[in-house]
Amino acid sequence: MSKTHHITLIQGDGIGPEVTGATRKIIDATGVKINWDICEAGAAVFKKGLATGLPKETIDSIHKNKIALKGPLETPIGFGEKSANVTLRKMFETYGNIRPIRELPGVPTPFSGRNIDLVIVRENVEDLYAGIEHMQSPGVAQCLKLISRKGSEKIIRLAFEFVRSEGRKKLHCATKANIMKLTEGTMKRAFEDIAKEYPDIEAHHIIVDNCAHMMAKNPEMFDVIVTTNMNGDILSDLGSALIGGLGFAPGANIGDDVAIFEAVHGSAPKYAGKNEINPTAVLLSGVMMLRHIGEFDAARMIEQALYLTFSSGCITRDVKVPGKNPVSTTAFTDEVIKNLGKEYDHEKIRPYKPIAKVAISQDVDFVKTKKRTVVGADIFIETTKPMAAFGPEMESFGHKHHLTLKLITCRGVKVFPRDHEISPDVIDVVRCRFMAPQETELEHKTLHALLADIESHYHWMHIEKLQVFDGVIGYSKAHGED
Ligand code: NAD
Repeated sequence: MSKTHHITLIQGDGIGPEVTGATRKIIDATGVKINWDICEAGAAVFKKGLATGLPKETIDSIHKNKIALKGPLETPIGFGEKSANVTLRKMFETYGNIRPIRELPGVPTPFSGRNIDLVIVRENVEDLYAGIEHMQSPGVAQCLKLISRKGSEKIIRLAFEFVRSEGRKKLHCATKANIMKLTEGTMKRAFEDIAKEYPDIEAHHIIVDNCAHMMAKNPEMFDVIVTTNMNGDILSDLGSALIGGLGFAPGANIGDDVAIFEAVHGSAPKYAGKNEINPTAVLLSGVMMLRHIGEFDAARMIEQALYLTFSSGCITRDVKVPGKNPVSTTAFTDEVIKNLGKEYDHEKIRPYKPIAKVAISQDVDFVKTKKRTVVGADIFIETTKPMAAFGPEMESFGHKHHLTLKLITCRGVKVFPRDHEISPDVIDVVRCRFMAPQETELEHKTLHALLADIESHYHWMHIEKLQVFDGVIGYSKAHGED
């Protein structure tokens, strides 16, 4: 007797009930025993006034079952502050988002025949998606990009283990470390360090914009790409376009305890209820889920049936097959069910194995340091004054407390002291960099006294301490700073 699996099913918004309904029907038809616990989330929940979009019963169900299959959730403007999708990923720390981009037999695209078979492993809980945003002045917005060594190590180790689990050979790490040396650079450095532990895997770093270019130009060169949250979000939508569109791109959100399976696409509200959208992306997410729970035969059976269905020209309206009319979502679903148990001979099947568990230190202070020195501070101030007047004023505040005003920048560009006559366009938030005398530390009482002086004339929004950890500078230089 095979085991009964307990799985949380979130039908989702818009096209969600149609795509998850089709998937459930096909999975059930394989004979795998699943007890589906149907739970609510998203728009309907926001409308009832619950700001998370996630009722307690849904959270409890996922917590208990550890596995969820999820339709897309809309973030209704005016009801929910935060996306319920992002909240779910963060709540269950599903830090790895695995998004395969695989050419499907019988799905015609401009890339057909090139055997695209790559996987994006997207960091899923850090980066700009921490959603920490503030207006610095009425017209200047800021978003914090948080990338930790711990988060980077976790996703990179998961990516290397994923490469091994599918018998693949190559891992690219796509970052913008050339510009964001500390944040994106943290992932690049973690990648370069951890790569040494996986000598059997070819490891390359690639700048993310070039990665996008190469994905469109020569997608065959990629096997697996690991990347930061926002890069991965964009690259995976780009990737889906290579294989027929969002209707074909599945995904898995993997954590230490919980895994949530969902398509890359959203709720596509204009197609909701029309019985014409493509359930493949959620169905293939279901296939990933079946492998995750050890139901390898059922997963293979669905893939084979799907390939046979496409190859016969039976396909929904998002892809045009010459000489064939598109079929409805329900007709497509019935055809896949009819083909269950039949073999499609032409497709290579990977030797799937479970992904090995990623074990890293659970220390909160993941990176430890012996010596920390605060050598200065960046103070972000609102002003409309010309720099020729504001700069000397800040210099005199600095002198009063034995600090040097190293420079003032606006949007990262040096605007004081002036080195040349070219004047950048300015906005009303500037950063003043004050440094303690060499070999000394900026004391808290000095910083407080400086802030008190600034506060008597200006609004300051935030301060960043300039720290040096064991002799390594922990802040970036400004454009134009020596
Ligand atoms: P979307 O992915 O919902 O749709 C964009 C377009 O892609 C559609 O108009 C359609 O042409 C095509 N498409 C998407 N899924 C398809 C399918 N299964 N079959 C055929 N064609 C398909 O993106 P959007 O319009 O930007 O977002 C709509 C809503 O979905 C928003 O509220 C957004 O926040 C949400 N969203 C949710 C998730 C998620 O739940 N993980 C992901 C992305 C967007």
